[in-house]
Parts: sequence; structure tokens; C-alpha cells
Amino acid sequence: FAMASEKDAALASDSPTIFDKIINKEIPANVVYEDDKVLAFRDIAPQAPTHIVLIPKVKDGLTGLSKAEERHCEILGHLLYTAKVVAKQEGLEEGFRVVINDGPSGCQSVYHIHVHLLGGRQMSWPPG
Ligand code: ADP
Repeated sequence: FAMASEKDAALASDSPTIFDKIINKEIPANVVYEDDKVLAFRDIAPQAPTHIVLIPKVKDGLTGLSKAEERHCEILGHLLYTAKVVAKQEGLEEGFRVVINDGPSGCQSVYHIHVHLLGGRQMSWPPG
């Protein structure tokens, strides 16, 4: 079954992605927040007035959320908390949305787990 095997293949591959190049400063990014564990930068194709991507600096097998293990709980919590910190920093007082896409059906394209932070406009539900 094509969709299941594609999902497995992409999520199972732990090869470097474009986000490693951003972490290693091989390609530029508009960084808005950084600490020892997490990097947050503006999305190159923003889907809202504020669109920021938050990533762990060490992937540790987390190609996507579906690969999460108990050892990842701390970094997952840190990513989500940092999304709140950055939302405040960006002045998103009216609200915001956080999204984690997983696999082909979730529309994931970069296989290094990341949290999208979107704000600055009215969101709708359900998402597309
Ligand atoms: P999708 O591409 O469907 O949004 P993802 O959830 O995997 O899937 O999101 C990857 C995100 O990374 C995209 O929003 C994309 O615009 C963004 N992105 C890709 N390359 C870069 C880059 N070099 N700098 C900033 N953002 C990037």
C-alpha cells in the first residue's frame, strides 16, 4: 500500500535535512529565538503574518512526532513552551495556532520535527 510505505520511508529516514543546514549556519535563516536546545526562525513561505518554525537543535531520531519515544518528552515540552514564549515576543496577544504536520497525510515535507507557530490573522477551523 503506497501511502503507508511512503510514510514509513520518509519518517524512518534519519538523513540530514535543510534544517541541519540552518542549525549549522550553512544557509541563512531569520532567527527570532535561540537557546541551547531549540532554534526558532521565520518560515520562508509564510502562511500568516507571523509564521515561525521551531526545531530541536538535536534531532535524536525525531523525524516526526510519530517517532516520539519517552526520552523525547523533555524536548517536546520545551518546543511547545518555547512556542508560547515566541508568541508573546511576537505580540500575538489575540491568539495564535501551533501545528505539527506528520507524514504525507499530515503534509509534512521536512523530516526533522518542527512546530509551526502561526498568528497575526484570524484562523479558521477545520484546517485544510
Ligand atoms: P509543509 O511544507 O507542508 O508546510 P512541513 O510541516 O514539513 O510541511 O513544514 C516545513 C516548513 O519549513 C514549511 O513551512 C517551509 O516553508 C519551511 N521551510 C523550508 N525550508 C526553509 C528555509 N530554508 N527557511 C525557512 N523555512 C523553511
